[in-house]
Amino acid sequence: MSNTVTLDENIDVLRPLREVFAYVSEFSRIEEWDPAVSTARKLTDGQPGVGSEYRIDMKAGFSLHYEVVEFEPDSRMLMTVTSKLFSAREEIFFTESDLGTNVRYVAKFRFRTPLAAFNKLFPGAMDRVGKSAMAGLKEALEDDFEAPKASNLLSLADRLVLPGIWRFTKLGYRNSRKRWKAVSAYQGDRHALITGATSGIGKAAARQLADLGAKITVVARNEAKVRQLVAELSEQSGNDAIGYEIADLSVMADVNALCDRLLEAGNPIDMLINNAGALFNPRQQTAEGFEKSFALLLLSPYILTERLYPLLKAGDSPRVVNVLSGGMYTQKIQADDLQSQRGEFSGSVAYARAKRGLMILTEEWAERWRDEGIVVNAMHPGWVDTPGVETALPEFYRMTRRFLRTPAEGADTAVWLACSSQAAQVTGEFWLDREIHPSHLSDRTRETPEERQQLLETLAELDETLRSSKCTKELGHS
Ligand code: NAD
Repeated sequence: MSNTVTLDENIDVLRPLREVFAYVSEFSRIEEWDPAVSTARKLTDGQPGVGSEYRIDMKAGFSLHYEVVEFEPDSRMLMTVTSKLFSAREEIFFTESDLGTNVRYVAKFRFRTPLAAFNKLFPGAMDRVGKSAMAGLKEALEDDFEAPKASNLLSLADRLVLPGIWRFTKLGYRNSRKRWKAVSAYQGDRHALITGATSGIGKAAARQLADLGAKITVVARNEAKVRQLVAELSEQSGNDAIGYEIADLSVMADVNALCDRLLEAGNPIDMLINNAGALFNPRQQTAEGFEKSFALLLLSPYILTERLYPLLKAGDSPRVVNVLSGGMYTQKIQADDLQSQRGEFSGSVAYARAKRGLMILTEEWAERWRDEGIVVNAMHPGWVDTPGVETALPEFYRMTRRFLRTPAEGADTAVWLACSSQAAQVTGEFWLDREIHPSHLSDRTRETPEERQQLLETLAELDETLRSSKCTKELGHS
């Protein structure tokens, strides 16, 4: 009996050819659509093309090594596959069809002994594997998944604190990802503005968006550092559409100057990721007179998002993603003491209150812009191994290090909220690992309508004063 098996399958999907090609040709995405695949990793840098290599780990417990040997953009790719069990040549053809795009997959497997016996014992098994992969690919490309809903079970686990807390670790991420749907929405024409992208979660988010082909503007303080970042991202992703803006986001004169430049340039923003952050201990005051956590974590994203509204409104499926923290669960907004002037100062409390404030803004913006299609969400990245955590919380870092997520895992939900069609259907929520979580675990942290109003009025007044005076001195009086 022959040791070879040939598969020849095809699907039609209602999507433009370039979108289908962009999704399928980045072969690491196979982990989203082939149910037999556990994880897939790209081993080479740059856009997919001749020489791209991938390691695919199968749920059955063995690995495959793929190498692209022929690559014709928007038309065809040929890959060689090697593994302990078989070698193969897999060829994928892309053609325009009446429906949109036809994808044809032709694979020739040559089994090494003793797997030839497998074919004798399970005739048709390979065929079924091919069919389920193509069905998975069709589903991924149709991209017609339901909007995620809040789960009572998750919210109960959160409230029980301990069952909730393990979710913040890498174990939580790995558990949740089993339930995720494919994200095939095309990013090649979309523009992301990301703050705090030179390190940690923001850097990982920028890398993921660069890999997806989005145009990116990163905001950073240090020109030399950001130039190096842009060069690194371009080299790794093969994406040249990465630019930068310089601003110290704890300085409102810088935030306003940044907004002026962006508004003047007029490029629509499809994804605004308010990520820049730090924890300040002891209390620090900026040159403008603001307590620094309030300035960086609350006033700055407030001004940036409010002022960039015209660019968001002009965006394609525009999203605002606010990077918050589980720390906000411990605090209520102090609307009459936004800058922690009363009592003994704690950097962690000031940080958590500012994040709580940004959650309130997330809900406000979501309601205000619902009918205009601007989707605003907040997320908790989980506990992530980043320079920020190591510096600000050395003891916590030392104790939890083994359980911390990678920056890429921490960035995942922010990127998903910014990109996926599923996430576009929900606004004003707090997310962890692509799942909705309650924004309060206790009524003690809930503000009254008057406190909410006071917060909004204070921020609006500061914004107004800063804009009218273009002032750089002593405004931190709220
Ligand atoms: P990080 O220190 O590695 O990165 C923070 C980024 O913000 C850096 O690029 C830094 O340059 C930038 N930044 C800080 N101050 C700035 C300023 N004044 N102007 C401009 N940019 C500034 O930290 P990270 O852990 O990646 O944090 C990213 C976000 O995630 C923060 O908002 C943080 O609060 C949030 N977060 C992190 C964790 C975690 O476990 N790492 C948990 C919850 C929330």
